Amino acid sequence: MKKVMVVFPHPDDESFACGGTLAKCSDASQMTCLICVTSGCSGRTGPFEIDCREKLARHREQELGKAAEVLGISRLDLFRYPDGSLVKTDFDELVGRIYEAIVDWKPDVVVTFPPDGVTGHPDHIVTCRATTQAVEQAEQVLSADEYPDLYYVSIPHYYDHCPDKGPKPAVPITGKVDITRFRLQKGEALRAHQSQVYSVNRAYPGVIEGDFGVIGCYEYYTLVRSGGKPIEPEPESNGIPVIEL
Ligand SMILES: [Zn+2]
Repeated sequence: MKKVMVVFPHPDDESFACGGTLAKCSDASQMTCLICVTSGCSGRTGPFEIDCREKLARHREQELGKAAEVLGISRLDLFRYPDGSLVKTDFDELVGRIYEAIVDWKPDVVVTFPPDGVTGHPDHIVTCRATTQAVEQAEQVLSADEYPDLYYVSIPHYYDHCPDKGPKPAVPITGKVDITRFRLQKGEALRAHQSQVYSVNRAYPGVIEGDFGVIGCYEYYTLVRSGGKPIEPEPESNGIPVIEL
């Protein structure tokens, strides 16, 4: 049975980036693990009056729990680092915690943000670096048939509805997962993050109200490491192939 691990810094990144893929994996009886690195305590509070970071962190954990349930996530690891300041935390310690999860759970696939973090958020960028290093370190102790494939996830349509146009993807996209049958779960997972109404509305207008029309049929990935070796991603000239993780 295939095991897919995703590593993201904030509660809601999983639903934005690969909610449909996670639901699809779960539907195919694959095991999924979500590592959420920070508590999300610096996020907006949306319609909720929450004046304390600890309360917001707890609230966002509950929202994440709901999203994880919708997406059928098998294992949820909360690292609870402070939101917004991952650049200031002990990088080696963060790498070590992701490394331990990989060595313990032995995923076939690890997914995280690309080097530009999609949005340029410093927490996203640190999470990419830490996860990439953790995979490389895990290869030192895993047997060759246990080496996970490492994918970066892109959200090329993230800025479609935003007034500010975002950065171009840092790495060429090499595959897309068809999530047509799982758009509903992705929408419901996004809706679970009610406190993040601003972010959800920005990228997926209508979804909070239950209109999932803007959710596309694909989620986008770049395979950057396989069999213990880095892969130099090449842009696809004949369109992006459909893949399964
Ligand atoms: Zn984020």
